[in-house]
Amino acid sequence: MNQSNNQCDALIIGGGHNGLVCASYLAQAGLRVTILERRAVVGGAAVTEEFHPGFRNSVAAYTVSLLNPKIIRELELARHGLRVLERRISNFLPTEDGRYLCTGGDATAREVARFSSRDAQRLQDYGTRLDHIADVLRDLVLQTPPNVVRGNWRAAMPQLWRMLQLGGRMRALDLAQQRELLQLFASSAGDYLDAWFESDPIKAVYGFDGIVGNYASPYAPGSAYVLLHHVFGETNGRKGVWGHAIGGMGAITQAMARAAAERGVDIRLASPVQEVMLERGRAVGAVTERGERFHARAVVSNLNPKLLYQRLIDPGSLSAEFRERIAGWRCGSGTFRMNVALSELPSFTCLPGTSLADHHTAGIILAPSLSYMERAYFDARTQGWSRQPIVEMLIPSTLDDSLAPPGRHVASLFCQHVAPQLPNGESWDAHRERVADLMIETVNAHAPNFKAAVLGRQIMSPLDLERTFGLVGGDIFHGALQLDQLFSARPMLGHADYRGPLPGLYMCGSGTHPGGGVTGAPGHNAAREILEDFRRRRL
Ligand SMILES: Cc1cc2nc3c(=O)[nH]c(=O)nc-3n(C[C@H](O)[C@H](O)[C@H](O)COP(=O)(O)OP(=O)(O)OC[C@H]3O[C@@H](n4cnc5c(N)ncnc54)[C@H](O)[C@@H]3O)c2cc1C
Repeated sequence: MNQSNNQCDALIIGGGHNGLVCASYLAQAGLRVTILERRAVVGGAAVTEEFHPGFRNSVAAYTVSLLNPKIIRELELARHGLRVLERRISNFLPTEDGRYLCTGGDATAREVARFSSRDAQRLQDYGTRLDHIADVLRDLVLQTPPNVVRGNWRAAMPQLWRMLQLGGRMRALDLAQQRELLQLFASSAGDYLDAWFESDPIKAVYGFDGIVGNYASPYAPGSAYVLLHHVFGETNGRKGVWGHAIGGMGAITQAMARAAAERGVDIRLASPVQEVMLERGRAVGAVTERGERFHARAVVSNLNPKLLYQRLIDPGSLSAEFRERIAGWRCGSGTFRMNVALSELPSFTCLPGTSLADHHTAGIILAPSLSYMERAYFDARTQGWSRQPIVEMLIPSTLDDSLAPPGRHVASLFCQHVAPQLPNGESWDAHRERVADLMIETVNAHAPNFKAAVLGRQIMSPLDLERTFGLVGGDIFHGALQLDQLFSARPMLGHADYRGPLPGLYMCGSGTHPGGGVTGAPGHNAAREILEDFRRRRL
């Protein structure tokens, strides 16, 4: 960046993890890159903050698996301080009849057999089948989707090539696997799991992945894809496993920021962009709320497409059809997030004890069946939230003593299925404390020492998520992961290649393929396309 006249090659709006990844790849290729971040810290939804004196936590995203191994390697995130640990077990789910299910590793089959020996026998086949399909997704996450283009054959040829490559990947699956893939894309997580298993607890553990960030019944068509989306990751080379970044999710984005700075990226904090500057229909820079002007050959947005095109761009520069599509971009993952400081670990009625045990390190799912999850959704549709909500609790201090004072703990409560907008136009500000109390009571019903152990709490309603992180409707993925908002349709047909309708303006956030989660993939893919345009002298 030429500091004196605020001139650079690529200007990135937003220092979320995808903005940081994109910036690093661009700078590595020799471009002068500046990031303008609204908040006083980089990382977007992947940050660690002190939410109560002496207690730090990953305040939004809280667990890692989807972060792409190629990106970890190429940005040398380990050298920049990133260390990821596996949980001792994956999930712990108290059941309605006072028992519990623990999953993870070799013990899963033995545990599931306590509920159904048939289910225990089917586990391995289920894992193998899903893994084959997940491999297809793993292959696709770092690809630019085939883009629907108008115009001459020159524009169409690269897209045709991408279609052929995609066809080649599909042919690598046998017919049974292709059928399975179709089923996973089109059917519901509930139907899919009902066809595999008969006992509720294992269906609930797997089905939870189908409703995370997906404001829908587990029996809604398309929810099986969301389940798949949550299993394509890996931790330290172990596929489908979720882990913990030492220091919290902020450790990931701090490592990314160091990688970017080492490559010469200029990161400006507390620099909210007010407007993308256009000249003759082309993006040429941005102006901040303070009135600073930055000029660049490429402008790259890390924001939800709705934020970019509805707030930062003069509507007159966009076609009516494009504006209509953006208005129809569905956001609102129905998520309510809390961080809790604890004086002691929860003692569960079904597995008592406050001394650290394996189940305390797990993703603790308080939603015993798919029908419970479905009820929670329908309650939220009609009343805003359910009296019996879905809570996943993670206690990262059980794996990481940097987060809480000795002997104390921090817990993340990730609560699904609250209405993004409350019925009757009511504000979340009027109800957030009450709903937070309900979430605490829900945990307390399973672990009766929980409520009394709470020393402090942070509440993030959908409205808080929007205000704090710029997540439209509190959507954790920058737009629902539904079939008409995926792959070549993310964020819309014709713009799936990280280029918008205005020359010089690109997208690199979770609203592009492959969507939400701390993957780094949109940032990586966008950088490749931008560099291609620099090479072809389109910029
Ligand atoms: C509560 C919650 C829990 C989640 N849990 C997980 C999880 O456990 N694991 C996982 O993998 N994923 C999780 N996710 C999803 C994941 O965190 C997001 O999909 C991902 O972090 C999005 O990254 P991004 O870089 O695309 O965008 P963001 O992280 O949203 O970054 C966008 C950046 O742009 C900045 N910005 C906005 N407006 C402006 C402006 N006008 N000018 C300048 N800057 C601006 C924002 O401040 C932000 O830093 C969770 C998300 C949430 C909210």
